[in-house]
Amino acid sequence: MKIEEHISLKPLTTFGIGGKARYFSRAGSVAELEEAVVFAKKEKVPIFILGGGSNVLISDEGFAGLVIKMDILGIEFVPKKSGVVEVVAGAGEEWDYLVGLAVEKGLHGIENLSHIPGSVGAAPVQNIGAYGVEVKGTISFVEVFDIESGETRVLKNKGCQFSYRDSIFKGEKGKQLIVTKVGFELKSNGKVNISYRDLEAYFSKKKVDAPTLAEVRQAVVEIRCAKLPDWRVIGTAGSFFKNPIVTKRSFVALRKLYPELLSYPWSKGAVKLSLAWILDNVCNAKGFHVGKATVYKNQALVLVNEGGASAEEVKELASKLQALVKEKTGIMIEPEVQWVE
Ligand SMILES: Cc1cc2nc3c(=O)[nH]c(=O)nc-3n(C[C@H](O)[C@H](O)[C@H](O)COP(=O)(O)OP(=O)(O)OC[C@H]3O[C@@H](n4cnc5c(N)ncnc54)[C@H](O)[C@@H]3O)c2cc1C
Repeated sequence: MKIEEHISLKPLTTFGIGGKARYFSRAGSVAELEEAVVFAKKEKVPIFILGGGSNVLISDEGFAGLVIKMDILGIEFVPKKSGVVEVVAGAGEEWDYLVGLAVEKGLHGIENLSHIPGSVGAAPVQNIGAYGVEVKGTISFVEVFDIESGETRVLKNKGCQFSYRDSIFKGEKGKQLIVTKVGFELKSNGKVNISYRDLEAYFSKKKVDAPTLAEVRQAVVEIRCAKLPDWRVIGTAGSFFKNPIVTKRSFVALRKLYPELLSYPWSKGAVKLSLAWILDNVCNAKGFHVGKATVYKNQALVLVNEGGASAEEVKELASKLQALVKEKTGIMIEPEVQWVE
């Protein structure tokens, strides 16, 4: 295991923003991860785990501890009971590569999560979701390395405490847990889920009633490409904020003010609002900017780095949007992107 010093984090994030890591190391195995953790403990510096860098905003000053880049690889397909295959993937594998492989093998469950950037290890942390599916629905287990005890253990799905863009790994109890491996239960005899508005519209326009798994993946990729910036070309971390979840009563009150308000069914008594719709139609936010940090022209929930934006500029733009949404709707919106300093 090699420890490097003063490594720029900017190129390791999709935002293309951020200062340097005081120490930097790549962990290609649990043994290397353990060595890196021992080093950080000896130096008494904090640890930050970096996957694909697609959900972080790193401060302009960088990180004054050890950044460990998760590079643990490996994908296995383990047949279980009839019609179910457990797919076990190293935390450093690229998420969309895994989705592509699963679809190629005819395995259902994660195809709606196609084209989300980032690593397998970050998927349970954020409980990634898109097009009516959350990854928590397929995760069978998460293997973790515990920074405090120095031991590796396994959490079953329930133990991960998944909720909307949240899990145990983001809270106080799970912050010392580093994801090393994830197991997914996928179905060879499953059904595609195209109930989400955009997917339904896509297939009804094409007059396809029963799309295949590969067609659903293709549809998701096409819809996303039309809406979201290509993170390899334009700096971004995707949706900067979470969609607000409000009580039915608040929803009814807001609908009186904004009759067209776009929403999605959530749970009994709660409704998920489209923040993109609010930012676009209520706040007129498309094109707002602070320096080189801008609200993306095709999707108001997405903030982009137009070239040379600083983390401070993005933070200021985000605060302005938060204040505007609060003023117009009374809702305090929460960032989805992780702030690292
Ligand atoms: C264009 C674009 C579109 C996006 N669309 C979506 C979408 O539709 N749905 C969605 O949910 N997200 C979306 N995202 C956000 C992002 O892709 C996901 O959150 C992704 O899972 C982040 O993975 P990452 O490896 O890049 O994580 P990073 O950005 O590297 O890290 C994110 C957080 O996870 C922690 N972490 C990373 N790996 C580990 C690990 N192995 N163990 C413990 N903690 C870890 C980090 O410490 C950090 O706190 C999008 C982002 C972009 C840029």
